[in-house]
Amino acid sequence: MILTKSQGERLTAVLHAARPEWATASIAKILQTANQNEGLPAIDFNHALRAAIAYATACTPEGNFVKQTPGFIAEPSRFWEITTPPEAPQPERPRCQEHHWEPIPCRVCQDEINLGDRTPEMLNKRKPGLPLPPEQVALKAQRARQAIRQAQTIGQADNATSEAEHRSGTANTP
Ligand SMILES: [Zn+2]
Repeated sequence: MILTKSQGERLTAVLHAARPEWATASIAKILQTANQNEGLPAIDFNHALRAAIAYATACTPEGNFVKQTPGFIAEPSRFWEITTPPEAPQPERPRCQEHHWEPIPCRVCQDEINLGDRTPEMLNKRKPGLPLPPEQVALKAQRARQAIRQAQTIGQADNATSEAEHRSGTANTP
């Protein structure tokens, strides 16, 4: 971002207010140099203000200032990253494996846990081996019985054929 004259003056004043030991002329020179090159790594002027304050006031755990000079204010750094405005909408939250419409933590799962129908570890997860509805159970049983009957019929036919061959073989023997 390239600062206007007014923005440059205001940013200089803010930095000087935060760190009076930083001379206004030095700050202004650094911002002018940045302006003549890439500009500041700012989305907008408010971002530049926040980053400048963050840079100027950052302290070590012992309470000392992190930055001793304004020299690196225009360089991309964590001070610009942590003060970036939220722009794009947040990525969509992951959803429950079983209740696809519910963002996690799933409220439906939570209700079931409260009722004792689901263990807490199964929050947001699909229950393994969900019972089939009764009509599907009946249909599966009917198909199984059919398959058994077919297998039995084929087995009987095989037996009948081999017996017939056996008899005819005997009959052909002189
Ligand atoms: Zn769920």
